[in-house]
Amino acid sequence: MESIIKHLMEITGHRDHDLLNISVISALSELTNAQRARVLDILQVGENVFMKPQITIEQGKLASIEDATALANPDIPLAQFPELAAGIAKQESVVEFVNMDGDRIIWLPVWMNDKISVCLEILNPEIYNDNTKEVMGGILVVYRNFQNLLDYSERDSLTGLLNRKTFDDNFSKILRTSVQKPIIESVSPPEVERRHTGKEKQHWLAVLDIDHFKRVNDQFGHLYGDEVLILIANLMRTSFRPTDKLFRFGGEEFVILLRSTTKEDAQMIFERFRENVGRYPFPQVGTVTVSIGFAHIDPFEPAVGIIGRADQALYFAKTNGRNRVCHYEALVETGELKIEQSEDSVEFF
Ligand code: GH3
Ligand code: MG
Ligand code: MG
Repeated sequence: MESIIKHLMEITGHRDHDLLNISVISALSELTNAQRARVLDILQVGENVFMKPQITIEQGKLASIEDATALANPDIPLAQFPELAAGIAKQESVVEFVNMDGDRIIWLPVWMNDKISVCLEILNPEIYNDNTKEVMGGILVVYRNFQNLLDYSERDSLTGLLNRKTFDDNFSKILRTSVQKPIIESVSPPEVERRHTGKEKQHWLAVLDIDHFKRVNDQFGHLYGDEVLILIANLMRTSFRPTDKLFRFGGEEFVILLRSTTKEDAQMIFERFRENVGRYPFPQVGTVTVSIGFAHIDPFEPAVGIIGRADQALYFAKTNGRNRVCHYEALVETGELKIEQSEDSVEFF
């Protein structure tokens, strides 16, 4: 009993998904004395569903924390575990399975409003009786409620995208993981050559702003304006990968973090999104366009500098016709944009 209360205090004390996950999986591992316990992220990519191990506890000790969105992580197709896939299809909350080696696996898919994004996995529990099952059920309810609360505080209430605060809180963490795991294709040529071919995979930050949005509000009213914001957010969700991060920065401005993509692909992905918006029939309003500015993410630079460069590219798009995607580094290369001296840099003249 004491240990349950200790675990609940631990679980409810966190404001961070990673820490919450660690405390929940540690609690389940300790409770069942499992050989291994993992938090698996469940990702839908097109028609396929993948599992990504996120946190692993082995023999009671934290074995690894993975950045669930890092491409270096192995994706396990859910289809490899037909028993779990069947359990998920039936919306079950406990799936038990003994494999050919005689290992016993307990899967606990975590349901949030008919959707699943996380599954807890326990391998070879030593203690697994009605009592532990009941406690596990209780821990899962607390976990789910906390995930919901965290999610709520991280998202913008109109569009459901991540909010500005989440960007500010998480940006350095996202960069830290990308520095730790350089994203270089194993087949790519050496550094110098790669720079010339532009095949290097990097992270990109885009700032997106709706064109003449004031007119939408003025002509059709705020409610229709809000509807446009919601529909654009939905288009963003379907146009980008689950590993990319989407934020509503405020008003009619959005930020996209695009992960490990070549310069050409980044340009193409943003262009495709811009075209998708331009083609979309917005109820009553008709056609809406967006302008996008994007810049390469330098992991050693503070977020404000990176946003500043993407913003300059966006400003260029706005002042050169709108409904455009502009790439900061490309504009600098062609001389269309000058590198701005930052205000605190030393000026000699
Ligand atoms: P530009 O192409 O230069 O971006 O022109 P614009 O009219 O989009 O730019 P501006 O920044 O002047 O106008 C943005 C407008 O967005 C002003 C504001 O009324 C509207 N807006 C900001 N937040 C919301 C919101 O949450 N809902 C609605 N309906 N409108 C919003
Ligand atoms: Mg604006
Ligand atoms: Mg605008």
